[in-house]
Amino acid sequence: MTLKGKTALVTGSTSGIGLGIATALAADGASIVLNGFGDAAAIEATRAGLAARHGVTVRYSPADMTKPSDIAAMIAEAEAEFGAVDILVNNAGIQHVAPIEDFPTEKWDQILAINLSSAFHTIHAALPAMKKKGWGRIINTASAHALIASPYKVAYVAAKHGIAGLTKTVALETATHGITVNAICPGYVWTPLVEKQIPDTAKARGISEEAVKRDVILAAQPTKEFVTVEEVAALALFLCGDAAKAITGAILPIDGGWTAA
Ligand code: NAD
Repeated sequence: MTLKGKTALVTGSTSGIGLGIATALAADGASIVLNGFGDAAAIEATRAGLAARHGVTVRYSPADMTKPSDIAAMIAEAEAEFGAVDILVNNAGIQHVAPIEDFPTEKWDQILAINLSSAFHTIHAALPAMKKKGWGRIINTASAHALIASPYKVAYVAAKHGIAGLTKTVALETATHGITVNAICPGYVWTPLVEKQIPDTAKARGISEEAVKRDVILAAQPTKEFVTVEEVAALALFLCGDAAKAITGAILPIDGGWTAA
């Protein structure tokens, strides 16, 4: 398979799973638009490194996924340069862990905006050009939490269940346009997002950080192993290929058996 001639925009791709997906798509020949926060010099090093290693054009957009106007501008810029966003990966996400009575309202709003509404805004803006080309791939990084819940993650679980609904609806609306829309649902992947939630989970559950890793995180996954960024990226790459053109509206677990239990 080659994605040469295609352009992929991956939200939240300065780190973790998004960067892994952007890397896999670049390695397959796609031009890339990176997005996300972080140290400016580190982001530029990532951008330039990806372009040099894979011989593709790589741009960076600092658009804030809580801001619909930023999102519209990001898609417009990508379309002005590349014609269309052929592959749209809605991946940006954050987490906050607290019992619902202590859950800050502003965290609820922020998580719903980044983890759910941003995907509505990107799709809303990118779909017309995709439809015009008669080809497109929309991949939403959901989570095992699109299928099941865990305590103390009310906003995250609600947003990820919402992403599943968004995925299925847009899949139905685009099914005859050569566009597929799917959600990838990873179990625990060792990234900064998981690392940062360990102290709060320890506090919410009244246990040590070691116990969180052993008894909360890996206890959930029958394989007792973290899913890797590369495994998630390989699934995203597969969904971009012709062999996956009949896969649409799917909510696909990649979770070491977590949601089978
Ligand atoms: P991460 O913290 O490594 O990456 C998150 C990315 O989102 C970063 O690039 C960050 O800069 C970006 N981001 C955060 N707020 C943003 C904003 N307002 N605007 C633009 N970008 C923003 O985390 P990750 O684990 O790679 O998470 C990526 C996605 O995978 C998330 O949607 C997350 O919910 C999902 N996920 C992660 C796991 C896991 O175990 N790590 C499991 C299932 C699903």
